[in-house]
Amino acid sequence: MRSWSIHLFSPFGIRLDVHLTFFLLLAFIAFVGWSNAGPLGMTWQVGVLLLIFVCVVLHELGHSLAARRYGIPVDRILLLPIGGMAQFRQIPRDPWKELMITIAGPAVNFFLAAVLFLGLPDPWGFLQPDFNLYSLEGLLQVVFAVNVIMGVFNLLPIFPMDGGRIFRALLAYRLTYLNATFVAATVAKVLAAAGILMALFVLQNLLLAILFTFIFIGGEMEYQSLRRSSPNKKTANWFVGDLTRRSFLTIPAHYSLREALTTLALHRPQDLVVMDEYGCAGVLTKEKLKEALHDGKAHQPVTEHLPEKFPQLQANWPVYTVFELLDREEQTIFPVFENGVLIGVIDASHVDESLEWLNLRAKYQPPPTTPNQPLTTPPKLP
Ligand code: ZN
Repeated sequence: MRSWSIHLFSPFGIRLDVHLTFFLLLAFIAFVGWSNAGPLGMTWQVGVLLLIFVCVVLHELGHSLAARRYGIPVDRILLLPIGGMAQFRQIPRDPWKELMITIAGPAVNFFLAAVLFLGLPDPWGFLQPDFNLYSLEGLLQVVFAVNVIMGVFNLLPIFPMDGGRIFRALLAYRLTYLNATFVAATVAKVLAAAGILMALFVLQNLLLAILFTFIFIGGEMEYQSLRRSSPNKKTANWFVGDLTRRSFLTIPAHYSLREALTTLALHRPQDLVVMDEYGCAGVLTKEKLKEALHDGKAHQPVTEHLPEKFPQLQANWPVYTVFELLDREEQTIFPVFENGVLIGVIDASHVDESLEWLNLRAKYQPPPTTPNQPLTTPPKLP
């Protein structure tokens, strides 16, 4: 289980997780169905909700399969009460690819809607006063409506919704990627705020207002995360070495998990750097350690619980490479090397604070006489 979600299955090899809060929605809908029409109402309404989420999954699969076509790994699809989210290892900064990946989602909804439109005798029947939800035709009419609404709603130009991403991709043809995101996110915040007001005072729909609130926050968060990971005037002169913490805990590779636990007992809980005769063998994260101990594996060697490959940083890399890494990886400690020698770690939980201190140093300390030399080519992360 990772962060309050459970794994369902993996369609097309893409991991599908459902967030635990989804079950609150399920329980709420079951309750509403029961109060409306007893057991039949409950079964039917829960069925409708699950069908809607099948369409959500198909929409996200559209994004994911398109992304995979461009060689972008998909971490997982996460189902939340407010909808689905396909999480990519990275979002392509190529406008054309982003356009194609984004359009693939709503395209699935419009395809489903088109099939139902052609197959149903009266697809718009749900608008009639004698509409009967408790029939197969009523159910299919609802699924038709849901796909039309899902397709159109997602195309609203409110970043980070699909329409907003399309808007950003189009802007990125003329602006830098960061500026395009800034414009898209600013427009999105205005539209989302208008959406919140409209949902509250015109439509009196609290759920829609909550949805727009999430969109408002989501756009801002994605812009901030991008801003942090983009080189700017201030961070351009800083290097990974400047953020490196020189004190960290190491354990020898022959240690068992129990011995690792003993080492940790004397310090603040943290990820451990595992050293073998060749140098750094990897990082044992405290989450991995905890999990393995709970599974009764205390006697096993730590080397059996290291990730297959671990990202390493070089001290002379520009500082924004750190942010790219933090956005991508779940571990919190990254070994930093200089001329092949381990000199310290980057600690994800202290990066913001370290940056603050770097700022102070830049202001009150004269620059060092032998500054790090910038690289001529941007580094490729492992
Ligand atoms: Zn989408």
